[in-house]
Amino acid sequence: MRTVSLWRRWKLWLLCGVVLLPCVLVAGRELSLLPDGQTHVYVLDIGQGDSILIVSPIGRRILVDGGPDLSALERLGSFLPFFDRRIDLVAFTHPDADHIGSLPEILQRYRVDRMLFSPVEHGSGQYARLLSIVEKQHIPLILPDPSQDIDSGDGLVLDVIWPPKNLVRSSDDTNGASLVMRALARSGSILLTGDIDALGEERILKTGASLSSTVLKVSHHGSEGATSIPFLLAVKPDHSVISVGKDNRFGHPRPETLARLSALGIPIRTTMEEGTIDFLF
Ligand SMILES: [Zn+2]
Repeated sequence: MRTVSLWRRWKLWLLCGVVLLPCVLVAGRELSLLPDGQTHVYVLDIGQGDSILIVSPIGRRILVDGGPDLSALERLGSFLPFFDRRIDLVAFTHPDADHIGSLPEILQRYRVDRMLFSPVEHGSGQYARLLSIVEKQHIPLILPDPSQDIDSGDGLVLDVIWPPKNLVRSSDDTNGASLVMRALARSGSILLTGDIDALGEERILKTGASLSSTVLKVSHHGSEGATSIPFLLAVKPDHSVISVGKDNRFGHPRPETLARLSALGIPIRTTMEEGTIDFLF
């Protein structure tokens, strides 16, 4: 009789363990993702492309770009609570395939409050799909305007720098019209550059906009056609980060670009070497 009773007790404990352990793990994970009063910037490991998640001090979420494929959607799941599928703002720097890959799926799986929309159009089917989902879901759109900051109201401000409101660009020059902006937090900042090219950098410098930032997200995955010395001197970053895939067919990051960063003593981190890279401001 005693053996039977012990066995029943063990079964009860085992059952409790099987039911409770996953709950405890999920609760622990959700608690670890609660806002902590600081700004987190995650340069997501999504291969050859860009996708950057910013979480503000009170937990507002901004996603800049959606990578080349569904990997950005997968990575997001690691940094956002499972039970709170909300993104305050989705921005995309330009409509090239390596920056919007996950966006259609993300718009369908998360509640996106508004979008900061690149003014440049693209003829791809992927871009058309993105537009149709935005339209279907009635997501409010904002167009970049350097005279209008986007203030999250809790110590995080998006300072839009480029493109100017009146810029007219054809679809074959999407890089030069990339959305460029600083995310300014209480104890640091990051300059997000999309795939801006050297001509775009020159035009930005002529606007006289302040570019000074703690971290520079190096443009165009470290292509040689950007990250000029005058631009670097204006940004004066303490660190640089390159979002780039291993063994990519473009040979990014290019040695010329790495040499310019090194010549100015700017430390370089890459997602192909470290995976997702996070900064805390
Ligand atoms: Zn790109």
